[in-house]
Amino acid sequence: MGSIILTSPLQGWATAIDDVPDAVFSGRMLGDGVAIDPLGNTLHAPCDGEILTLHASHHAVTLRGEGGVEVLMHLGIDTVALGGKGFEPLVSVGEQVTRGQPLVRFDLDAVAQAVPSLITPVIVTNAADFRITRTETGRVVGVGEGLIYLDPAEPMVEVSREPSGDRVTAPVRIPMVHGIHARPAARIGEAARAFTAESWIVKDGCEASTRSPIALLKLGIRLHDRVEVAASGSDAEAAVAALIALIESGMDEHDHAATPAPTPIPAPVAGAAVIPEGALAGALAAPGFAMGQARWLRVADMEVPVDGQGEVQETQRLTDALATMRARLSTGDDDSAGAAIRRAHAAFLDDPALQLGAFAEVGQGRDAGHAWRSACRAMADSMRAMGDARFAERADDLIDLERQMLHILTGTQEEALRFAPGTVLLADELLPSQVMALDANVVGLVLERGGPTSHVAILAATMGLPALVACGPALTNVADGATLILDADNGLVHVDPTPQALNSAGAVVARRAAARAAALAAAKDVCVSRDGVRIEAFANLGSVEDAVIAMENGAEGSGLLRTEFLFLDRDRAPSVEQQAALYGEVAATLQGRPLIVRLLDIGGDKPASYLPIAAEENPALGLRGIRVGLAMPHVLDEQLRAILSVTPHGQCRIMVPMVASVAELQAVRARVDAIKAEMGVTHPVELGIMVETPAAAVTAATLARHADFLSIGTNDLTQYALAMDRGNPAVAAGIDGLHPAVLHLIALTTQGAQAHKRWVGVCGGLASDRLAIPLLLGLGVTELSAAPRFVPDLKALVRRLSVADCRAHAARALQLESAAQVRTLARRFEEEFLA
Ligand code: PEP
Ligand code: MG
Repeated sequence: MGSIILTSPLQGWATAIDDVPDAVFSGRMLGDGVAIDPLGNTLHAPCDGEILTLHASHHAVTLRGEGGVEVLMHLGIDTVALGGKGFEPLVSVGEQVTRGQPLVRFDLDAVAQAVPSLITPVIVTNAADFRITRTETGRVVGVGEGLIYLDPAEPMVEVSREPSGDRVTAPVRIPMVHGIHARPAARIGEAARAFTAESWIVKDGCEASTRSPIALLKLGIRLHDRVEVAASGSDAEAAVAALIALIESGMDEHDHAATPAPTPIPAPVAGAAVIPEGALAGALAAPGFAMGQARWLRVADMEVPVDGQGEVQETQRLTDALATMRARLSTGDDDSAGAAIRRAHAAFLDDPALQLGAFAEVGQGRDAGHAWRSACRAMADSMRAMGDARFAERADDLIDLERQMLHILTGTQEEALRFAPGTVLLADELLPSQVMALDANVVGLVLERGGPTSHVAILAATMGLPALVACGPALTNVADGATLILDADNGLVHVDPTPQALNSAGAVVARRAAARAAALAAAKDVCVSRDGVRIEAFANLGSVEDAVIAMENGAEGSGLLRTEFLFLDRDRAPSVEQQAALYGEVAATLQGRPLIVRLLDIGGDKPASYLPIAAEENPALGLRGIRVGLAMPHVLDEQLRAILSVTPHGQCRIMVPMVASVAELQAVRARVDAIKAEMGVTHPVELGIMVETPAAAVTAATLARHADFLSIGTNDLTQYALAMDRGNPAVAAGIDGLHPAVLHLIALTTQGAQAHKRWVGVCGGLASDRLAIPLLLGLGVTELSAAPRFVPDLKALVRRLSVADCRAHAARALQLESAAQVRTLARRFEEEFLA
């Protein structure tokens, strides 16, 4: 093949690419070429070829010409922000064009005024396949004049970028307001080049190599699109994590407009970092294992007229419907999870802002249903836009309420859902009321979106339905009727597995059912290890309903009442009386069993709109946990007053979150003593600490001198020990409490506590992790506070363990080098001692 000539697509001053005032181009992140400062208003084809992409804003065009040369022409700098204003496309994607053919016309003056520069890079994006022999720069060129001269490059031998090994994938939502256009494509390519792994971005089943900016542009990825980042090769996991982090950073192109951000996609669970062939990964919402047939549930929007029949009539209809809905929400069976959700819906129903919005629309002549829907949607959008997963998940409750009200207003009913036995239900998202209406034939849930702490997740866990959420768009490729193995514990759903895999899954289901039945039968029995060591089997609570479930499952008390959860959905601080009533109700439900009430753990990942905590750059390292109580003494004092008023006296113990130094504990103790004196309380009140900071673990011996007990919050301890944000999907695969560093901190805690004869518990996620429990017992932990439904399994497991064996096991684990090695050791221990 002879030389290839790209002719000038514009009339203008041709200059070196180094002169472009944008590092993406001058740094040749997208390839090599020339730039033109235009004097004309039309972009022309620089060669014969096919239009590969035309950005939605019409400011950038790519085409493939002779010999496969791929050329990007980018009209101006930052022109993507104009959203197409001032540009008129004259061709479309896929069209064959001839050299000199007009491609885009633009308003030279208007665009020039709106952007920093109109300089137009003309870039060969597959420059590695070509050698640029000459460019024409430093003078004015006319359309059609020779600009870039190329020869095909000698083929190079690919050495290190061949895909190999398992493919790692993770989902991410696009936060860049203009999606993936030239600049993000360049930055993704640059980031990917730092790794030897081959990597791709996958959207709707189409994938593009990160090495090809044009392939990336061709995916047409827009704001809020969900894509997968995939990589294969020795450093694939690191490559995926880095690319996800880059995309999630928004690359300084965040959506600052009012457009609501949909619920963030939570991280896939660590166990699913490497996704086996034929499987999809999601985030664990409710544990368990099931197999069955896929069935999609797609819920269409209900139709309501836009215009009403007069303000008076529509106002009355809306008022009546609200009354009917209110009455419905105040009745119903007392199924614990359902009651909690009805309370949440009732709070929304009477929200003044929501009602104001709906009645205002009715006042403008709208139908009551239409008005209600738009008020609900506006509020749901603003909740999603708050950027906090918990609030975004509450938006689902609002949409649920919208639907129920529309049924009342239209006199219709939600169609009863009927399923074949063994149905694994797939959906984009599910509403809480839909989950409550499922029949016993549904054995599991798999959702494309959703969050692991949503009401849907809580309900699924309560109903014992294994559930995965946030599986991403790849889930839509699963057909109705496909056979599925849902391994929620490992964050995986296997699609159309082999007959062998199905056989072993059947055996797992049978084994688990038998083990669960046996555990439940013995749930109320005492929890003692095989060699006679008493281990307290407690439950973590966030509501009265959790306490009911904990009691049903044989919990011996609560090792952690997350008081902030009781008041999460409020816009005003709870009064002392309201707090006292709730703590009292939880205590009464536990029928005298110990209740460890954790002081408010607000801040960081747990916001409370009614506490004035300024936005922080590093909230996890800022005003959170007990630091809030000490900074706002009235908040601490009111909570202490409420706890100390609970009867019977002594049932409640107090636990201080996020302690980092003795002074914090002493300050709280001083307040406890002062308030006890003020209230005339004379009984002893145990005051313990959570060990969640490495500082607390390392100085446990010092702290234990002042604390009545220590309870390890392994969720935060892991986050702070490994310096990995527990809410950041980019590092989620690395957050594992079985990392040897965390185990050493647990060992330091138990050693420090033993020096002062204090007991140590664990109330973080490790207490509900079967592989972790033998290690925790081996390290000297004597109380485990787990998810309420896990308590029977926890007790059953402890009864089969010998603490002496666990000690030897833990000693071995402390010598290992990684969490993966510890998990392998823990699996071997399970096979050897628990098979
Ligand atoms: C923990 O950090 O392990 C813990 C139990 O507290 P939370 O998860 O509520 O932060
Ligand atoms: Mg914590």
